[in-house]
Amino acid sequence: MTIWSALVGQDAVATQLQHAARDAQRIRAGEHGPAMTHAWLLTGPPGSGRSTAATCFAAALVCSAGGCGDCAVCQAVPIGGHPDVEVVATSELSYGVDDARALVVAASMSPVSSPWHVIVVEDADRMTDQAVNVLLKAIEEPAPHTVWLLCAPSVEDVLPTIVSRTRHVHLATPGITDIAELLVSAYGVDLAIAGFAARASQGHIGRARALATDEHARARRNDVLRIPFHLQDIPACFAAAADLLAAATEDAHAICDPLDAGDMARLEQSFGAGSQGVTKARLDKLMSAPAKALVKAHKSRLTRTIRDQVDRALVDLLGLFRDVLVSQFDAPVTLVNQEMHPQIAQLAASSTAADTGRRLDAIAHARAQLRADVTPLVSLESLMVELKDPWIRAASA
Ligand SMILES: [Zn+2]
Repeated sequence: MTIWSALVGQDAVATQLQHAARDAQRIRAGEHGPAMTHAWLLTGPPGSGRSTAATCFAAALVCSAGGCGDCAVCQAVPIGGHPDVEVVATSELSYGVDDARALVVAASMSPVSSPWHVIVVEDADRMTDQAVNVLLKAIEEPAPHTVWLLCAPSVEDVLPTIVSRTRHVHLATPGITDIAELLVSAYGVDLAIAGFAARASQGHIGRARALATDEHARARRNDVLRIPFHLQDIPACFAAAADLLAAATEDAHAICDPLDAGDMARLEQSFGAGSQGVTKARLDKLMSAPAKALVKAHKSRLTRTIRDQVDRALVDLLGLFRDVLVSQFDAPVTLVNQEMHPQIAQLAASSTAADTGRRLDAIAHARAQLRADVTPLVSLESLMVELKDPWIRAASA
């Protein structure tokens, strides 16, 4: 058991980063270490484990045993508790120029208790271009002890100037067997449920864990997969769109509301809430501007989380119609939704492969619209109508 056990189905990446960590120790000893460099770009589809890879690598750099997995350092890094490993989660709230400047200053500081100061930037693709430009300078002329680990879905998602200044490591979508084994070994999940969750997640480890351990997540997914069987007329399509959005909004609130409350409590504390002589009226006055900014940031986090939840539902629908296509072509491929075999056969028999192709296109189109900030209800309503009648767009064009 080492720190690398947390990284699932990424043997090549683990080996490369282990070599780099070993060479990092050589460099600190004044020797040659070509496998190590000071700036890395870790790419991989959502859920493939790129943040986990970055965390493992960070731990391997700051642990004196190269990532033993057991020591206090290896325990602290994954939970954000090591002073020399800074994890910037841009998915939380927006990340602008001022934050980037603060980060660059922090990165230039000498490490506290280890040879390296590691900065992990999750979702580097979500930083503003201005923020990236601030970081570029620091990446180009780094302090000798600083290591940058930038994570993004793919090379295309980050500026070329970043790509050219970093060493690129790509994580593949992990295999179903690897994910199922992880669910059994790390979370003690029953083998049958682990197999189901690994398949249903379509290679997304976090999603697989949720489906394996959270009944609510399974119930939500079942609701989504039932949608195509209830689109008998236009009102039913609109109702399905509204229900899906309502469920996504409810789940997004469950994720965001506690985070929002924590942020606000910290802000109040920083303005002296609870200390003697700080009245409510004075607090409200002092906090007015930063509180407004925080509320605005929370609104954008909620909007983004709702879109993420809707997108997850659309990925589930994609899996369902891929299964239909697999049945229509009689392809020897394991169905994502094996347990729905009879319903999938029913959909396959009542439509042509061309219909299914159009339905898959419609889902992909709706996902692209969500990314392009189209109002979710509008894109979901037109999607449901197209799932009911896949030729409607051709007919109306
Ligand atoms: Zn260790």
